[in-house]
Amino acid sequence: MDTDLFVAWFEETARLVRRDRDHLTRLDAAIGDADHGTNLDRGLTEVCKALTEWPPESPVQVLTSAGTALIRRVGGASGPLYGSVFRQMGKALRSPVTLAGFSAAFDEGVVAVERLGKAAPGDKTMVDALAPASRALALAVRDGVGVREAFEQAARAAAEGAKATIPMQARKGRASYLGERSIGHEDPGAASSALFMAALANVAS
Ligand code: ADP
Ligand code: MG
Ligand code: MG
Repeated sequence: MDTDLFVAWFEETARLVRRDRDHLTRLDAAIGDADHGTNLDRGLTEVCKALTEWPPESPVQVLTSAGTALIRRVGGASGPLYGSVFRQMGKALRSPVTLAGFSAAFDEGVVAVERLGKAAPGDKTMVDALAPASRALALAVRDGVGVREAFEQAARAAAEGAKATIPMQARKGRASYLGERSIGHEDPGAASSALFMAALANVAS
């Protein structure tokens, strides 16, 4: 897995977030403050700009640059959380990047979010999409599955995890202020996390 694949991952995520921006914002309107789509679209536009202006020379540089841009430009709760996924993943990643190495580093990123957001699976947050994706990747590595198939399995797990937030009551973030009224809506951060994983599957060949 080379630098170009990591750049393509963020470019494809930017495309999917742009496409689904209004949908993500509508999800956030139901249980938050109606800014998740615009926040993330702004942040990923900045990520793409940074990757063009300062061409990264390694996968680690892509992750660090993307994470930093997300922290600077997304704002809200999700900016620092997404930023820490990719910055921590960058810290943990060893080159050359194998699927096993990717999986282990991604998991460190997910653990960083859980620690920073003090969120566990079931709290109705992005963790409910990211943690199943990480688990799916680890299982794919264990089973010796190819890269594309592994990323497709991770994308499916993330999408299912996002849908599974619908009946949950939020225990973290703005949505938790609604108590039981947060039940019945998909968590916007879980939905956008599923887009990050779908983008990965789209660019893997
Ligand atoms: P804000 O709520 O500040 O407006 P966003 O709308 O951009 O930020 O992001 C909201 C998303 O952030 C939520 O849908 C949820 O997935 C995620 N989130 C919020 N708080 C936490 C937390 N403590 N841990 C993990 N994820 C969280
Ligand atoms: Mg919001
Ligand atoms: Mg906000």
